[in-house]
Amino acid sequence: MVTDLADMVKPSVILDGKQTSQVLLADLKQEIQVLPEQHRPKLVVVIVGEDPASQVYVKRKAKVAQELGMHSEVRWLDATTPQVDLEREILDLNKDVSVHGILVQLPLPKHMNTLDILSVISPEKDVDGFHPVNQGRLLSGDLPPALPCTPAGVMHMLHAYQIPIAGQHAVVVGRSNIVGKPVGLLLLQENATVTVCHSRTQDLAAVCRQADILVAAVGIPRLIGADHVKEGAAVIDVGINRVDGKLVGDVDFEAVKEKVGYITPVPGGVGPMTIALLMRNTLSLYKAAGQ
Ligand code: NAD
Repeated sequence: MVTDLADMVKPSVILDGKQTSQVLLADLKQEIQVLPEQHRPKLVVVIVGEDPASQVYVKRKAKVAQELGMHSEVRWLDATTPQVDLEREILDLNKDVSVHGILVQLPLPKHMNTLDILSVISPEKDVDGFHPVNQGRLLSGDLPPALPCTPAGVMHMLHAYQIPIAGQHAVVVGRSNIVGKPVGLLLLQENATVTVCHSRTQDLAAVCRQADILVAAVGIPRLIGADHVKEGAAVIDVGINRVDGKLVGDVDFEAVKEKVGYITPVPGGVGPMTIALLMRNTLSLYKAAGQ
């Protein structure tokens, strides 16, 4: 029997972050809409300074929260605000029982110590999951209600497309506290065999080629090429880089897409998941507060 070649080449699945996040947001909206108007989850985003990218993110977060029927507020502080004033602002929010999630938009101005600031947020209102207590809980496997949004978004995407995790070799490229390390821990929590690569990794391509699941979180445009992937692998591109006015990921999408089983585009992949998970985190903290 002659098999048509087209039947033998299985096209890769594009992991659609827009659609997956819309489904999650619709579920959250249903849950929120039935709550009494005066007593719904509330997210407060604090932004210090005028970083243009941060301003766009912050407005978007507040808008999505409102669309879901949550309460949300943005507090803008001047770039020269002393650290102690920001800390006082956070302490007030910690005490405010109407607030369930507090997010301090990063990066902070250079005169502030980010870890000090993140440590002031009450762990029970830490909607980004960056408080040292919550990072420790993630490390110990005692997962807090709100996990870091982008890593949780990566996991949600894998689950939504029923990509096997347990027993698979997951390679994470990047070891930042906000993406690489927590993604690695979440994959480990779900019984993947995890390798974390970074700027000092030798022969990155050879390590990446072992991956059943490859997560790129580096910030170098198109670092991951066809030589870095195994046939049939699931490739999750967290990178957001601007090249000639266009957004591109850390993965060379065109070079890789025919070879792999699953791949996220940039834009439209992990990006939309991050904001959806922020909303889920706010609702989770509201529920954990017993409301
Ligand atoms: P980061 O700069 O804090 O960390 C980058 C990591 O990459 C480091 O651990 C470094 O060791 C590693 N690295 C650098 N050069 C390397 C190389 N040549 N080979 C292997 N590893 C190397 O970055 P981050 O905050 O983790 O962000 C990573 C990327 O993800 C950025 O493009 C960022 O914009 C993007 N990002 C996207 C979202 C989203 O919502 N989609 C959220 C956060 C970050």
